[in-house]
Amino acid sequence: MRAVCDDSSACVAYSCGVTFIAVAIPVSRTDAVSRALESAQIAKSQGADLVEWRVDTLAEDPSGSATLIRLVQESPLPCIVTLRTESEGGAFSGSDDERIEMWRAACAAVPPPAYIDIELATYHRRVPMGDSARDIARFSSGSKLDAPRIILSFHDFHGRPAGLSSRVAEMWSDPGSAIAKVVWMARTPRDNIEAFELLASRAKPTIALCMGEHGLMSRILAPKFGGFLTYARMDDHGTAPGQPTTEELLRDWGFRSINRSTKVYGILAYPASHSRSPEIHNRWFLAANVNARLFAISVAPLWESFKATMLELFGHEPLDFCGAAVSMPHKENALRFVEESGGVIDQSTQRIGAANTIGRAADGRLFARNTDVDGVVEVLSSAMRSSGGDGDLRGKRVAILGAGGAARAAAFGVANRGASVVIANRTASKATQIAEEFAVACGDAPALDVTAKAMSALAKERFDVIVNCTSVGMEGGSAEGQNPLPEGVVLDERSVVMDAVYAPAQTALLRHASQRGAKCVGGWEMLIAQAAHQFEAWTGSRPPTDAAPAR
Ligand code: NAP
Repeated sequence: MRAVCDDSSACVAYSCGVTFIAVAIPVSRTDAVSRALESAQIAKSQGADLVEWRVDTLAEDPSGSATLIRLVQESPLPCIVTLRTESEGGAFSGSDDERIEMWRAACAAVPPPAYIDIELATYHRRVPMGDSARDIARFSSGSKLDAPRIILSFHDFHGRPAGLSSRVAEMWSDPGSAIAKVVWMARTPRDNIEAFELLASRAKPTIALCMGEHGLMSRILAPKFGGFLTYARMDDHGTAPGQPTTEELLRDWGFRSINRSTKVYGILAYPASHSRSPEIHNRWFLAANVNARLFAISVAPLWESFKATMLELFGHEPLDFCGAAVSMPHKENALRFVEESGGVIDQSTQRIGAANTIGRAADGRLFARNTDVDGVVEVLSSAMRSSGGDGDLRGKRVAILGAGGAARAAAFGVANRGASVVIANRTASKATQIAEEFAVACGDAPALDVTAKAMSALAKERFDVIVNCTSVGMEGGSAEGQNPLPEGVVLDERSVVMDAVYAPAQTALLRHASQRGAKCVGGWEMLIAQAAHQFEAWTGSRPPTDAAPAR
């Protein structure tokens, strides 16, 4: 693959649909060159195609020009030379003449750099920076064919820039530049869609990327929309927020196999960045050869925000958005959205009143499902079997702690299998409400055996199964390290105790229960089990569960 692009005919690889991976490596001083070259060698061995030498402050070093020549000449990958100005997020604060001098040095290297990046704002300065850059490139050390091309760029680290499309149109219409590049800080998932729209209507090779947590989709899906390149970081920080590493791009995201047909899924939550769902589903998609990727999408905890995001994602046809996993606090919104769109909701999900999965049925209508129910029941049955029972929940006494979304799903799931359920919650009225709802028949679905009790009333009782569906014990939560089970609840080797909390793996509740001989099962097993049902709802087949990530 040749990682350069002639502005008249576009390079072979690019025209074949390859989106390059460029690793940005800052080099601030002469004594950092050897390390930087080693990093570029590592980037190459990891699969990067280009290196961007970010030499913003190198001009301040007395041997800056000579150092830049060495960097370019010894670069193990075709390179981009960039001296990013402070006004666009870089550290270059010198004069135009100093910058021109550095470009001249870079272009004296044999071979010269593949690209010089220059900001649109600088290009149009009174000193004809654009002309200088083009002249230097033209009279570089290389043959005409190898002369550096100009990347005309624009960056906004604060948000979507005003006049975005007119700036990009200006870059496209400039005959002196080969590639247009626009990068801005995403505020919502909508920004990615705008980047994809720019790529789809490009008049020349274009880089359109969004920064920050919300912008990851634009970086990963650049090949789907024909982006010229995506950036990867070498260290913890990278040169812009949100850059993945080359290894993450290639191993975790299967970047090389993303193409126009790649389908897109999301995990919608608030916040979503901590979710393990992208890791789980993307591993399964790759292992099962399903051309799809799932992204974490943080959506503010309001119905209006959820609805607007869903409409944007499902509404932008070229994105091929096919479904969503939904977590706190949007599970009720998920049900409402599918209901309002005239979609299909199965009876259990309707009765639980919350959905964690949205997908598209064969007839094009959306469907909503609650796979937490399947997850809880499956994991409990298997724990009961492995402790010598038959795994049948019928007639078992089950205590559910909590009265949020997970508790609703668990209470419904086990009661629907014939268990007798006691539900207890810090806010007792919420437990009572669930018990009252489930205790009446609903259509042809029978009344369920669910009663509410005060937490303290559980003391001295014995249950076959106890399920914690509160967030007590959760890492980083307000009750981290605490045990939600009231003192005195009887536990022995016939008890099964499950904690929906999956981080940490060993919660205070599970420690307490295992010390008393109970069979313990953690939230990770439930997470994998419910995710497997999501995968099946979307793709029609079970996932290769042995490809699931380690806890
Ligand atoms: P939710 O709807 O927000 O409900 C939270 C529940 O926790 C409520 O019952 C709340 O009681 C209770 N709670 C919170 N802080 C408490 C405290 N300090 N003391 C006592 N009770 C407290 O959340 P959810 O969706 O049901 O999720 C609950 C937990 O299950 C979370 O840790 C979540 O990560 C986990 N979960 C795991 C899976 C999985 O697959 N493993 C799936 C879903 C959920 P009040 O009503 O009194 O506020």
